[in-house]
Amino acid sequence: MDSGRQQSRTYLGVPLFRPRVGFFELSSCEGCQLQLLNNEATLLDFLSLVEVVNFREAMKERSEDYEIAFVEGSVTREDEIERLRKIRENAGILVAFGSCACFGGVNQLKNRFSLDWVKNEVYGNSPIKTDFVRPLEAVVKVDLKIFGCPVKKEEVEKIITHIALGQEVVHHKYPVCMECKANENVCLFDIGEPCLGPVTRGGCDSWCPTNRAGCWGCRGPAEDANLEQMEKIMKENGFSPDTILDRIECFGGFSVYAEKLRKDLGDSR
Ligand code: SF4
Ligand code: SF4
Ligand code: SF4
Repeated sequence: MDSGRQQSRTYLGVPLFRPRVGFFELSSCEGCQLQLLNNEATLLDFLSLVEVVNFREAMKERSEDYEIAFVEGSVTREDEIERLRKIRENAGILVAFGSCACFGGVNQLKNRFSLDWVKNEVYGNSPIKTDFVRPLEAVVKVDLKIFGCPVKKEEVEKIITHIALGQEVVHHKYPVCMECKANENVCLFDIGEPCLGPVTRGGCDSWCPTNRAGCWGCRGPAEDANLEQMEKIMKENGFSPDTILDRIECFGGFSVYAEKLRKDLGDSR
């Protein structure tokens, strides 16, 4: 690390300055990284905050000298474990970037099935070594999580600004419903559609309900999320336990509750 760039303030033990950052992907669709590049209106401002030294989607240069690593995707292969550990060694701050990295994301749906079945069904005659899906923190220490599938670019920029300024990053505690109400949307339950907004962590500005699609919980549970009450609301609005289960296990953030509900239902899928 170049000591000439160091200043006296620190965050999570890392000196504050224009941080050198790297973006990396494990098993993922790379949609979270793409979110940043898509934000053309503020991309230059963002680049003035950080020095990007490794970002395969955006540049040819590769450097292993970075303070902050944003790691997208979940761990599904042996070689990814080694790679992730190496990134962890290099980085002062390791950020789980997106829902795959935070809690398995859509990838973790694979864990519902036997590995042999997955290998046959997905890879057929071109088998690859693949294992059950794990979030980053099952393998290495994670300092910070940025939720969402994909992450919301405005939120990422805000969080990175906080890190660069040495301010604490505080995630939204309230659920998506709060933002949905603030946006003056008609509640989707009133027009016959299910939605996990009452229990899902806010911060996406009710992205889906504002576009007339129910929330699937991609940001994981809000603080003090009352899943029992959510289940009750779903049932009162005529939705089957399968509908509830499909939603809460889609991204992995509600896995503990999903497991319990599955057991309660005697479901062996
Ligand atoms: S969280 Fe969603 S958008 Fe991001 S890498 Fe995973 S699947 Fe893609
Ligand atoms: S549509 Fe969803 S997020 Fe919006 S108020 Fe209704 S339950 Fe809450
Ligand atoms: S509304 Fe729900 S599913 Fe849609 S982006 Fe927000 S948290 Fe994710």
